[in-house]
Amino acid sequence: MGYTQWVQNHANKHKKIVDKLLAKNYTKEQIIDYFDFENMKIEEEGFCPLYAKNKKCHDMDSLNCYLCSCPNFRYSDRGIQKIEEKTQYSFCNIDSKDGKQGIYGDKIHQDCSKCSVPHHREYVKKHFDYNWSNIMHDCAL
Ligand code: SF4
Repeated sequence: MGYTQWVQNHANKHKKIVDKLLAKNYTKEQIIDYFDFENMKIEEEGFCPLYAKNKKCHDMDSLNCYLCSCPNFRYSDRGIQKIEEKTQYSFCNIDSKDGKQGIYGDKIHQDCSKCSVPHHREYVKKHFDYNWSNIMHDCAL
C-alpha cells in the first residue's frame, strides 16, 4: 500500500471515531484524552497495529495518537526529487532536530522514529481540528 492509500484509510478510521465521540457530545478536551494511547489500545484496537502488541511507536510516557501521522510530514508516492542516484519520497517540513532522512537502497524517506513532536497532548491541542484531513491537507505533494 502506498502512503496516499494509507492516509485515505486512516482518515476514514479517524473520522469514524471522532463522529462517534461527537454523537456522545464529547468536548474537544475529551476527544483528545480519548486518543491517548492507553485508552485507544483498549477502545479502538483496529486503529493501529501496535495496539495489539501493547507497543508504542515512540518511547514516551503519555503518547497521544490523534495526530498520527504527523502534519509536518511531506510525501509523494511518485517521488519528490532525485538526489544523486536516489529518489526522495518524503521529508519533514519543519526539519525537526529529532528526525532524519533515511536511505533505503535507492529510496530516501523521512525517518521519524526518534521524533515525538505530534504525539504530545499540547501539540495536538494547538493543531486540533475535528476533521483530521483538514490538519493533514498540506502533507501530500
Ligand atoms: S520528524 Fe517529527 S516533526 Fe518531522 S515529520 Fe517526522 S514526526 Fe513530524
